[in-house]
Amino acid sequence: MSNNPPSIQKSYKPNVFQRLGLERPWDFLFYLPLRYEDRTKILLIDTLEVDQFVQLEGALIAVYPKGRILQGIFQDSTGEILLNWFQKPKYLYPFLQRQLNKKTRLIGQVDVNQYGDMSINHPQFESCTQPLKSHLTPIYPLIKGLTQSKISSKIQGVLKDFVIEDYLSDMICKKYDLMPLKEALYCLHYVSPNQGLSKVEKALKRLKFDEFLAQQVQLNLARTKRQQLQAYPMKADITEVRSRVLQQVGFSLTSAQDRVIQEIESDLSQSIPMLRLLQGDVGSGKTLVCLLASLKVILSGAQVALMAPTEILAEQHFNHIHGLLSTLGICVVYLTGQLKSSQKKEILSQIEEGKAQFVIGTQALIQKNIIFNQLGMLIVDEQHRFGVQQRIQVKSKHAQYTPHQLNMSATPIPRTLALSYLADLDVSVIDELPPGRTPVQTRLFSMGRRDEVIAALSHVLAAKRQIYWVCPLVEESELIDLQNVQDTCVYLQSCLPQARVGSLHGRMSVEEKNRVMEAFRLGELDLLVSTTVIEVGVDVPNASFIVIEQAERFGLAQLHQLRGRVGRGAVVSDCVLLYQEGNLSSSAKARLKAMRETTDGFVIAQRDLEIRGAGEILGLRQSGTESLRFLNLTEDVEIIQNVRSLISDVSLYQDINLSSLLNVWYREAHDYIKM
Ligand code: ADP
Ligand code: MG
Repeated sequence: MSNNPPSIQKSYKPNVFQRLGLERPWDFLFYLPLRYEDRTKILLIDTLEVDQFVQLEGALIAVYPKGRILQGIFQDSTGEILLNWFQKPKYLYPFLQRQLNKKTRLIGQVDVNQYGDMSINHPQFESCTQPLKSHLTPIYPLIKGLTQSKISSKIQGVLKDFVIEDYLSDMICKKYDLMPLKEALYCLHYVSPNQGLSKVEKALKRLKFDEFLAQQVQLNLARTKRQQLQAYPMKADITEVRSRVLQQVGFSLTSAQDRVIQEIESDLSQSIPMLRLLQGDVGSGKTLVCLLASLKVILSGAQVALMAPTEILAEQHFNHIHGLLSTLGICVVYLTGQLKSSQKKEILSQIEEGKAQFVIGTQALIQKNIIFNQLGMLIVDEQHRFGVQQRIQVKSKHAQYTPHQLNMSATPIPRTLALSYLADLDVSVIDELPPGRTPVQTRLFSMGRRDEVIAALSHVLAAKRQIYWVCPLVEESELIDLQNVQDTCVYLQSCLPQARVGSLHGRMSVEEKNRVMEAFRLGELDLLVSTTVIEVGVDVPNASFIVIEQAERFGLAQLHQLRGRVGRGAVVSDCVLLYQEGNLSSSAKARLKAMRETTDGFVIAQRDLEIRGAGEILGLRQSGTESLRFLNLTEDVEIIQNVRSLISDVSLYQDINLSSLLNVWYREAHDYIKM
């Protein structure tokens, strides 16, 4: 016996299945093959087709080096086929020579060269005494440490021992032409050669259906849970105050704004707290909408908080909203990180006592030490920047009421995404820009033509138009950002001595940033060089030209946001995207192409979905929320429709074993069931 005690500290090392997230029987069953190989029969050389996976029986009759590769000839009773090895480890040539003229089985995929001759590259050899397979051989995705035989024997074991119970009734399966669950899973892992791949497709359709159904059921349950919360009663009549505010702003609402305000106000008059996403392209006038909706909350005696993603934007909102509401006697406060501690204390106590009626700030608003008196509505501006989809917790002194929440976003979410991931959210859309806007013209130039672009800016300056110049953000380093911005400033100033140039970057204090932004807004600067700090919401109508350097490095939504800084006035606006020539990735090309082709935020959003996929757009990767593995939101339209039809059919819906469905698809399902 050893004297050493067993090491307790032994570090936990996940095995290869755990590394793939495969733990429960269901996880294995849902681990699907990439493709299937047919090892059930021997084919003849004179019947082969290109791309076919084949097994042949015959003999290798020649093998020889040819240039840098190794070639061979394989013969059966019907003909010959060329073999190629592009990599030739040392053992290969002697091994092949030993095979010469012996009866053997050859396995591989038929390829074709530029002259139309068929060949098989890197074939495998096997003894002819091996029995042929009875079923197609599934080929699974592998990682280091996992072999085909290891994963497939594990899955076959699960299929054999695990009892698969269906959570959908026969009636549902029949109505939506779905394969029973057990049959579908068998079919995906154990395909008989004569059933054909169309059956596999049908089996996959069943999984897609269930996956989406589970997601929708989960979201519905979340909605039900929300409907049990109470909101502060909003009874005030605001007709008069509203028209006074509108008189002050001096323009009338677009019909889209009008419609959306009605949707929000109708939510506010309910006792269930609203959770609504307000989508509207950049410049569509979301601020005014949320401001008018706020009046109802404030006049009913509760507070409104507006959370902006940056200090610049928060300050801009404060100036605007304070200007409009203080004349009505409404107390608007700005909670910024710049406050002295005594001022901050004062504002915090105003918020807690309820004296502050409209509170504007950044993320600081949801920090622990802020207690509202009675928060009636939380507005999250540029919600996509926060990446939150759910309700944000904010503290109120009178905690029996849950505040309404209005998320605003200028990055439209394609309809399919809104339906699938955000089904517990209500969505309002401002699909109309205020009158008098002219669309932005977008052009692409390679970096090699940067000087040409700069030279052209002198005409823009002569026309008294203001210009944004955006340098790419260097995520890792504010210092490099600063350097970039400063170098660009110096260079642009030397090329354009007549221009008054200012700069904005992450290293500046908020006060400095605001000062520069204000000078630009007042027209005291002609050219503003910055990083993406200007991305969000900043509104300077006279700025009508934007140059974005290394545009290929920005995401599509971000480019659209940046471009939205111009085109806010009546003059024609321009956007120039400078890209680095050479190794542009295909997705970078697709992004630039989309920018050139359209200014419609919804089209952009749809393209973005196609380029990036749903998980990335919604930030699901970071948030850890499951994204859809099997269903493709842009392709599986019919499945999406069928699931939605099932969900809205009360009697069929009762036929679903919900807890079993959620247990299979979400491990933490019981949380939802318990509510
Ligand atoms: P966004 O939706 O991007 O947040 P803003 O709310 O900043 O847009 O509005 C952009 C500009 O449009 C602002 O200058 C605002 O005053 C103006 N605006 C808003 N609504 C209207 C309207 N109905 N008619 C004319 N201008 C409007
Ligand atoms: Mg805005």
